[in-house]
Amino acid sequence: MITKKNLTLPFLKESVARNREQLDLMHKINTDGNCPFCESNFSKYHPKPIIRDCKFWLISENMTKYQNAKYHFLVVLKSSHQIEHGSLRSKEKLELFEIWEWLEREYDIPGSTLILRSGHWDYTGGSVSHLHAHIVSGSGDDNKPVMTRVG
Ligand SMILES: [Zn+2]
Repeated sequence: MITKKNLTLPFLKESVARNREQLDLMHKINTDGNCPFCESNFSKYHPKPIIRDCKFWLISENMTKYQNAKYHFLVVLKSSHQIEHGSLRSKEKLELFEIWEWLEREYDIPGSTLILRSGHWDYTGGSVSHLHAHIVSGSGDDNKPVMTRVG
């Protein structure tokens, strides 16, 4: 049985890649043996520029936007390789919400969703084990929903 106490994961879950480009990159990173979201590796693997380098988090665009998303930001924990939110410090949690508010102001976003997967990816739908958040805003068209896995 998987518990939080003995949770260890590889860096990437290739079986959930959403397209060939993502799968090829995931395979290369797993072969290299580096966590793509640890700060020292982030710019080496992530094809989008860093929008803002905050004290505890990096902000970038997600490599591949969720279908129908107008905005899809990636917010990656800088301090260390962590898998679940229970190890976040209060100041890291606070800055994540400050970033969420900043992105909505900066991009004049009328509504958005914060997705923060934590723990084993078989239960979250995640593909990168390093703790990170997605901040996503749809098109505003009810006929074009943004969908993602949460388990
Ligand atoms: Zn990492």
